[in-house]
Amino acid sequence: MAGRLGRCSIVGRGRRRCDRASSPPRRWTDNARLSDLDAPVTDPADLLALGQRYYLPIYRQRELVLERGEGARVWDSTGRDYVDLAAGIAVNAFGHCDPGLVAALTEQAQRLWHVSNVFHSEPPLRLAAELVEASGFAARVFLCNSGAEANEAAIKLARRHAAARGRGPERRTILTFRGSFHGRTLATVTATAQPKYQEGYEPLPGGFRYVDFNDAEAAEAAFAGDDVCAVLVEPIQGEGGVMPAAQGFLGHLRTLCDRHGALLMFDEIQAGMGRTGRLFAHQWDGVRPDVVTLAKALGAGFPIGAMLVGEAAAETLGFGAHGTTFGGNPLAAAVARVVLCRLREQSLLDNVGARGDQLRTALECLAAETGVIATVRGRGLMLGAVLADAWRGRAGELLDRAAAEGLLILQAGPDVLRFVPPLNIDEATLAEGLARLGRALRAARAA
Ligand SMILES: *Cc1c(COP(=O)(O)O)cnc(C)c1O
Repeated sequence: MAGRLGRCSIVGRGRRRCDRASSPPRRWTDNARLSDLDAPVTDPADLLALGQRYYLPIYRQRELVLERGEGARVWDSTGRDYVDLAAGIAVNAFGHCDPGLVAALTEQAQRLWHVSNVFHSEPPLRLAAELVEASGFAARVFLCNSGAEANEAAIKLARRHAAARGRGPERRTILTFRGSFHGRTLATVTATAQPKYQEGYEPLPGGFRYVDFNDAEAAEAAFAGDDVCAVLVEPIQGEGGVMPAAQGFLGHLRTLCDRHGALLMFDEIQAGMGRTGRLFAHQWDGVRPDVVTLAKALGAGFPIGAMLVGEAAAETLGFGAHGTTFGGNPLAAAVARVVLCRLREQSLLDNVGARGDQLRTALECLAAETGVIATVRGRGLMLGAVLADAWRGRAGELLDRAAAEGLLILQAGPDVLRFVPPLNIDEATLAEGLARLGRALRAARAA
């Protein structure tokens, strides 16, 4: 059967290729035959049309098809180049096609891809040890595939930790903050204290409580019933608008957690892995966490997530308590080992500081010159440009203008432009990206 299908599709494809020589090319989506999907692209609009027709319409991709990348530069299917100050979404810490990462991935790809967690392989064993050693607080690691999975594991760990201390379900509340983002699974989207991500998914799991970010008094009040078993917080809120924790806020949460026997869990999925100029964003505050979740830049473009657990909760999840099929697979771990090693080089972290200063200064100049930007906030190479009142709600439009000038950036909500470039971006490429941003902002103002 498989053989027949295979032969049919080869014959079918071959015939159509021959036909094409004598007849004008058709749009792929003019007919739905799968055998046409291998046909060469004659127009990038054909590729875009595939997305419109076959994807769940849950994203609004920009109208371009990216084809290859090198460092902080990518090219689309028409050959146009873009300076990439988005790095996916703060994922490609070393830009595109970094030779060291490509080598780690391809070497591992020729050795061993998958063994499941029923057996051991070397890359995840070594990665776990290296993460613990680099973290300065962790005792154990759980490897998974994404940020949501890492936070889901943290939520389960917090509940089990409380249960093991004799706390009933009514005393296992997890505190999170308005404007946060923790993922899209049902539990992590409930932890995400933003109604726009939750609407229509009710009934949501119980046991979460929301407090305003950076409101120390409200956080204290939320502990009053002695039912909070954990706090989950981003040291810098990413999706919620690139909003850093106020000075002393994380330390205040540490004190509250200690007083009430709760776990302090930092979601460093976006702000961690060197993004702020230190390996972890919480290191700026000198606050010891019980749990840290990682993903995004941990694999620098190859999917991987991790939950690091400190001594206090390291023995909480025992045999059978949790698991994953793909988590900690040798391919992802081989890449993440190289990423972690390179993120610990002081020269790389220094570059984050220097390029962060360059980016912030340039954004402040553009703010003064164009009036489109009101303020700049964030740390290192995780910066948000908050739009001026007259431009509120128009971040998406500015992203389109940036792309038209050959620049890829992100938004963080409708009112903030987000800049999260590769951590090893060089001064000249960043300057070129900023020149393109200047053109985009001036064009927007002139329109
Ligand atoms: C992206 C992100 C997540 C979710 O990660 P996924 O890999 O998309 O599941 C969670 N928390 C933060 C802070 C993030 O930025």
